[in-house]
Amino acid sequence: MNYDRVREVDPAAADALGGEVKRQQDTLAMIASENHVSEAVMEAQGSALTNKYAEGYPGSRYYAGCEHADEVEQLAIERAKELWGAEHVNVQPHSGTQANMGVYLAMLDPGDRILSLDLNHGGHLSHGHQANFTGQLYEVEQYEVDEETGYIDYEGLHEQAEEFDPDIVVSGYSAYPREVDFERVQAAADAVDALHLADIAHITGLVAAGVHESPVGVADFVTGSTHKTIRSGRGGIIMCDEEHADDIDPAVFPGGQGGPLMHNIAGKAVGFKEALEPGFEDYAEQVVENAEVLGETLVDRGFGLVSGGTDTHLVLADLRESHPDVTGSDAEEALEAVGIVLNANTVPGETRSPFVASGVRAGTPALTSRGFGPAEMEQVGACIADIVDNIGDEDVMAEVTERVQDLCDEHPLYE
Ligand SMILES: *Cc1c(COP(=O)(O)O)cnc(C)c1O
Repeated sequence: MNYDRVREVDPAAADALGGEVKRQQDTLAMIASENHVSEAVMEAQGSALTNKYAEGYPGSRYYAGCEHADEVEQLAIERAKELWGAEHVNVQPHSGTQANMGVYLAMLDPGDRILSLDLNHGGHLSHGHQANFTGQLYEVEQYEVDEETGYIDYEGLHEQAEEFDPDIVVSGYSAYPREVDFERVQAAADAVDALHLADIAHITGLVAAGVHESPVGVADFVTGSTHKTIRSGRGGIIMCDEEHADDIDPAVFPGGQGGPLMHNIAGKAVGFKEALEPGFEDYAEQVVENAEVLGETLVDRGFGLVSGGTDTHLVLADLRESHPDVTGSDAEEALEAVGIVLNANTVPGETRSPFVASGVRAGTPALTSRGFGPAEMEQVGACIADIVDNIGDEDVMAEVTERVQDLCDEHPLYE
C-alpha cells in the first residue's frame, strides 16, 4: 500500500495516506468504534463504483447503467438479511447517523418525542443531543445508567417513559460495556405505545455472530454502522420488518440523502461476505474474551471499571478513585504518546467537563483483527497501567513505547 498513483498526482496527499498506513501499523487502535477492514474491503471501497450515480433502489433507479450497482447492492442486502435475520434491509445510509436519521424522518414529525440515553452515560449524538439535528427537531428526554452499578436503569427508563410519553425509545449505545436487554426496553416502549429503535452501531458484529442478544425481531427498527465490529465498508444500515419497508426506503432516499455511495456499499457486500464465513464467529468471541482479559488486567492493577467489567468489546475505566489526579484526557494524551490510541470518556456521575472527562474507553475489535489474543491483551493492559500510574515519567514512557512497538511488529497489519 504505497499509493504510487496518488503520489504521481499529489505527493502531499500520498504522504498523508502512507503516513496513515504506517500510523495504523505502528500503534494499537483501541478506539472502541474502530476496526481494521481487510484489503478486499478496501479494494471494493476503492472501486470504479465511486463513479456511478444510482439514485433509487435495485431494479428501480433514476439513471441508466445501473446493472452492476444493482448486483452489488443486492448482494449487500441479501447478506445482511442472512447475517442479522432481518426481513427488510436498507444499506444506503452514508453512516450510522444517517441510518438513525432515516428512521426518525420516516416515523416522527418535528416536535415528536425521543427518549434516549444521556450522552454522558454512553449515548450517541444522533439520539437527541442539542448539537445534533435530533436535539433541534425533536423534544428529547434522556434516561441514565444506575450510577452505583453502571447498568442501564431499566426500571427508571420504564417510569420515565410513562411520564414523558415518548413517540420513540432509543436503545443501543456508544460507551456501554454490558449486554443490552432489548426486551426490557421494548416492554417500556410497548407500555406507552412508542416505537423502539435499537441502534447497534457498536455491536453489529457481536450480534451477527450471536455473542450478543439480537434486537432484530424485538425492536421496530434496528440501525447500525457497518465499519465497527462488523468490519465491512464504511457506512450505515437500517433493518426492519417488511411492513415498514415503504416508510424507511423513501426516508433514506430521497428523504435524507441523494445518490448512494455505491463503492461503500460494495465494501459492505464484501465485508458481510467475510462475516458469513465461519471464522467470523471465532473473531467475535475473541473480541469479547480480549475485552474481558483487558478489564481483568486493569482491575488487578487497581483500576475501577464502570459496571465492574464487560460483556462486550469495550471496557470503560473510571479513574476517579484509582487515579484522582489523572483526567481522562491526561491518560489519552500520555497513552497516545507511546502508541496506544484510545479516547477519554465521561463516566456515569461525571464530575469533570466532557472535554476532560474522568474515564477512558478501550475497545478490542481492531486489535483482535490484528490477531491479538489474551496473552497480548494482558501485555496491553500492563502497558496502559504502567503509563497511567506514571504520567510524565520519561523512562517509563520510553520502555513502554518499545513494548508497544514489539506488539505491533509481531502482528503486521498489511503486507
Ligand atoms: C458510532 C455510532 C453511531 C453512528 O456513527 P457514524 O459515525 O455516523 O457511523 C450511531 N450510534 C451509536 C450508538 C454509535 O456508537
